[in-house]
Amino acid sequence: MANRLRRRYDEDEATIAVVDKDDRHVYQPGLLFIPFGLADVGEIVKPRRRQLHSGIEFHEAEVDRVALVEDRVFLDDNTTLPYDVLVIATGVALQPEETEGLTGPGWREHVFTFYDVPGAEQLARALADFDGGRVVVNLIDMPIKCPVAPLEFAFLADSYFAERGIRDRVELSYVTPLDGAFTKPVASRHLAALLADKGIELVTEFAVGEVDGEHGRLVSWDEREVPFDLLVTVPLHGGTAYVGRSEGLGDALGFVPTDPSTLQSRVRPNVFALGDATNLPISKAGSVTHFEGDVLTENVVRFLAGRELSASYDGHANCFIETGFGKALLIDFNYETEPLPGRFPTAAGPLPLLRESRLNHLGKLMFQWLYWHALLPGRDIPGISSTMSEHGKERQPEPV
Ligand SMILES: Cc1cc2nc3c(=O)[nH]c(=O)nc-3n(C[C@H](O)[C@H](O)[C@H](O)COP(=O)(O)OP(=O)(O)OC[C@H]3O[C@@H](n4cnc5c(N)ncnc54)[C@H](O)[C@@H]3O)c2cc1C
Repeated sequence: MANRLRRRYDEDEATIAVVDKDDRHVYQPGLLFIPFGLADVGEIVKPRRRQLHSGIEFHEAEVDRVALVEDRVFLDDNTTLPYDVLVIATGVALQPEETEGLTGPGWREHVFTFYDVPGAEQLARALADFDGGRVVVNLIDMPIKCPVAPLEFAFLADSYFAERGIRDRVELSYVTPLDGAFTKPVASRHLAALLADKGIELVTEFAVGEVDGEHGRLVSWDEREVPFDLLVTVPLHGGTAYVGRSEGLGDALGFVPTDPSTLQSRVRPNVFALGDATNLPISKAGSVTHFEGDVLTENVVRFLAGRELSASYDGHANCFIETGFGKALLIDFNYETEPLPGRFPTAAGPLPLLRESRLNHLGKLMFQWLYWHALLPGRDIPGISSTMSEHGKERQPEPV
């Protein structure tokens, strides 16, 4: 957003300031590969300052709170930043301590998450030492960022253990609070069939009440139990803490109420939000954040010029799903259209939707380059619009 906005204004027209609590920008999709030794931290973490074009101020400090009535942001280094427009992009906070027992005995020993850098690195060591037993992959509850990432982890674990020659000694289970493998019906059927093909047990409607790390048990509120030797879980997500300290800014979960089409917040006309920090009914995903950024740049410019906002964000989301053995699926959807089979980006396009292919896997790997060199500098993805295209989508879903 900052880089895009900088291009729209001369330096004497607008001051653009970015605040972040650290100088380590993480390419989060890469966290999936670290546990399997397929990426290392050096390639997925880079200094933030280097990503920002000249003429953008960078404050390395934590936001303490936003005072909406004063149009000011207070930082923990005692700086106060007044604003004409505030864009909120502070993502989510992982809340493992909110689940009983999760951070108790066994945490970071045989109970892990790969959703942060330390967790992904610790899990890499635990997987390398793992010689057989029950591996359970779990998400505690929605919403989580990249809702397909735990599924990808299960698929990659299947492939990883097979390559190590110990797959027959590992029982893999995918335990979810949802009533299927995924949130949307067509994709859910495809993904459940893939889990079955790969011999990964699917346990649905399992709302975790307690993690008993000492005895290796996941216990649900309705008193079912799933045993594990190694648990890979995705903790509860909420908004970051300053949202709760900023009167009137967030909802009960700490997310910012946001208009789904314009991305203007519902709390103040000069406050906008994008990415994981919003309360929008769409996946918390980098692709969503990128497409939203396209619409939001235009809307910040319109707002400052006193023009009507463009209500053009349609909820477009786009995700590669690693399925192991060098293959991946691709899904493309928006608020109205669930992920459907077909081809991408057009009916004659090279990438199959909702079907495994090697090209999709190569697309996922290539994406990292595109991220650092095109998306963060604020450029568009060639040939892919922020609005979802109907081309190539098979409206009549094929029977599975
Ligand atoms: C394992 C994993 C795999 C993923 N895979 C994919 C994928 O394949 N495809 C995809 O599209 N998406 C994927 N995602 C999701 C994607 O990374 C996020 O949706 C995306 O990063 C959201 O961008 P954001 O800017 O909203 O939040 P973030 O990128 O999380 O950025 C939030 C920023 O706010 C800062 N911040 C928070 N609070 C404060 C504060 N109080 N003061 C100052 N700074 C603060 C943080 O330091 C951080 O830099 C994945 C995520 C994970 C965890």
